[in-house]
Amino acid sequence: MKPFASDAFFLGPKSENAAWVRAEFQAILDHWFDWRRSLFMDDPSPLSPERRLSVDFLKEREQLAQQLRSLREMLCSEVPKYTPRYNGHMVSELSLPALFGHFATLLHNPNNTSKEAARVGAQMEVEAIAMLAEMVGFDPGQAQGHFTGGGTIANFEAVWRARYRLDHLLALALYKAENGGDRFDAFETAHMGWDAYNRESDGLDVDAMRACSGVLGNPFEYAERMTAATGRPWRGPVLLTPGNKHFSWKKATNVFGMGEEAFWTSPLDNQGRLDPDGLQDQIDRAREAGRPVLAVVSVAGTTEAGEIDSVDRVHSLLEKERSGGIDIWHHVDAAYGGFFCTMLGGESETALSPGSRAALRAIRTADSVTLDPHKLGYVPYACGAFLTRDTQAYVSSSFQALYIDRAISNDKWACTLEGSRSAAGAAATWLTGKTMGYGPERFGQMLAGTIEIRAKIQSVLETEIDGVNCIPADTNILCFHLAVAGEALSAANARTKSVFAKFQQDPNFSISQTILTDESYPALIESHVAKYNGVKDCDQLVLLRCVFMNPFWSNDAVRAALIPEFVASLRNHLN
Ligand SMILES: *Cc1c(COP(=O)(O)O)cnc(C)c1O
Repeated sequence: MKPFASDAFFLGPKSENAAWVRAEFQAILDHWFDWRRSLFMDDPSPLSPERRLSVDFLKEREQLAQQLRSLREMLCSEVPKYTPRYNGHMVSELSLPALFGHFATLLHNPNNTSKEAARVGAQMEVEAIAMLAEMVGFDPGQAQGHFTGGGTIANFEAVWRARYRLDHLLALALYKAENGGDRFDAFETAHMGWDAYNRESDGLDVDAMRACSGVLGNPFEYAERMTAATGRPWRGPVLLTPGNKHFSWKKATNVFGMGEEAFWTSPLDNQGRLDPDGLQDQIDRAREAGRPVLAVVSVAGTTEAGEIDSVDRVHSLLEKERSGGIDIWHHVDAAYGGFFCTMLGGESETALSPGSRAALRAIRTADSVTLDPHKLGYVPYACGAFLTRDTQAYVSSSFQALYIDRAISNDKWACTLEGSRSAAGAAATWLTGKTMGYGPERFGQMLAGTIEIRAKIQSVLETEIDGVNCIPADTNILCFHLAVAGEALSAANARTKSVFAKFQQDPNFSISQTILTDESYPALIESHVAKYNGVKDCDQLVLLRCVFMNPFWSNDAVRAALIPEFVASLRNHLN
C-alpha cells in the first residue's frame, strides 16, 4: 500500500511548508483587518496617529511586546508533540486545514450557543456535523449533533438524553399506576421506546405527568413512589459500560447523581474487547433486579490500547432484545477511533481486521456517538462532537417536547450541556472536511498509514529485542511489556516501569505507560502472561504505550532514521 502523501496538509516537522503557510496566515490577518475597515466606514476612529505615537501608548505597547516575548519563550518548553518522536498520548501534529480554520474563526469569536452570536459559526457547525455524521454512516439528513469541549462532555450528552427518554417512560407508567392502574415492571417499562410513549401518553395531562418525573421531582420522594408503584425497592437505573471504558463514564454516574454503584462494567474477552455474552449477562442481571439500563456503551478505539469493541455484535444482541420489546439505548464511544471510519470503502481498509471493519460499519446503528476531532481529527483543542442517529434521540430538556423545534431549527443553547461554545472547532473540522475529506482517498489512507507504522514497529521490536510482549492491537496504538520467559509478572512489571522511567528522562522519544488491572482485564492479563510462560503473582499488567498518530511516520527517510534509533533507545533503557 502506498501511503497517502499528506505533505501539503501539515506544516512539516522542520516547518518545511513555512513560506506558504506564513502567507496563508498573513492572508487571514489581512482579511480580518480589511473586514473591520470595510464596515461602518464613516464612524470616527478612536485611535488617531498622534495617539498611537504618544509616549504612554508606546510604553504600553512595549510592555505588551515584552510580555508576549516571554510567553513565546515559555512555550519553548512546551511538549513537542508535532514530531514523529512524540508518541505519548492521543495527540500529534495539527493539520493545516484545522489550524487555519480554527485560527480564522477565532478572530471572529463566534459563540455557537446562539445564532444571534454566531451567524456563520452556527451554519458551519451544522455542515461539519453533517460531514461527521456521514463519516460514521448516519444519514446526514436525519442525524443531529453539536460540537463539545471534548469526549467527556459528549459522553455526558448521551447520558443526559438517555435519561430524558427513560424519565418520560417511567413518568408515564408512574402516572398510570398512581391513577388507578396496575403495578409495573420498571425494566420492561423503561425500554418501551418513544413510539410506545407517544401512543400511550396521547391525551394525558402533561402537567400531571410532569409531577411524576424523577428528573424534576425530589429524588427521595420519587424513590418512595416508584417503590410503591413497582412493588419492589427502587434502586434506579444502571449504566452498562465495558471494562475498557474511559474514566468519563464513571464521572457521568457521579455527576448525574446515579451513584457510582450504578456504573456496571461488562467483562472483556482475552483480547481486551467487550464480551457480548458478558454484556447479555449484565442486561439479564438488571432485568432481574428491576433496574432499567440507562444505556449500553461500546467503545470504538479504547483509550488504553486503541481496540475496537464488536459494535456489530452488541447491535445484534440489542436487536434481539428490541424484538422482544426491550429498546435499550446504544451509545458508541468513538472518541478516539471514530475517524477510522474514513478508511471504510477504500483499498486501505485492509489495514483493519475484518472484525474491526464490521464494528466500525455498525456505528451507524447506534443511537448516539461520541467523536473527538481533537484526537484523530488532527484538530486543535478543545473539540469533541456528539451525534445522534435521528432527531428523536437528540431531544433533551427537563421534560416534554417543547424543545424539539428549538433543537432542530433554532438555537442550540437549550439542548447542549455547555452554554457558550466556540465555533473554532466546528470550523477546523469543516475546513478539514472540505480539503482532506472524511473518506478513504486522503484521510482514510493517512490513518491506514498510522496503523501500518504501528504494525511495522511492533514487528521490528518483537524481532530485535528479547522480551518485548505486545498485547493485541487493532489500530495505531502499541502496548507492550518487557518480560523474560518464565518469570513472575511482578518482576516484568518492575522492569517495564523502570524502562518507562528512563524514557521519561529521555528527550529523544515520548511514550506513555498504562496499567491494566484484573478488575477490568483478567482474561487478557492471564493469556498475556501465559504467552511467555510467566507466573501471575499480582493483579496488574504494566505496559509501555505508543500512540503512532504522526502522519510523517509514513515517510521513508523518517522511518529509516527513527526506527533504528527508537529500537536503540529501548535497548539502552533495558540495560
Ligand atoms: C479521550 C477519550 C474520552 C474523553 O475525551 P476528552 O476529549 O479527553 O474529554 C472518552 N472516551 C474515549 C474512548 C477516549 O479515548
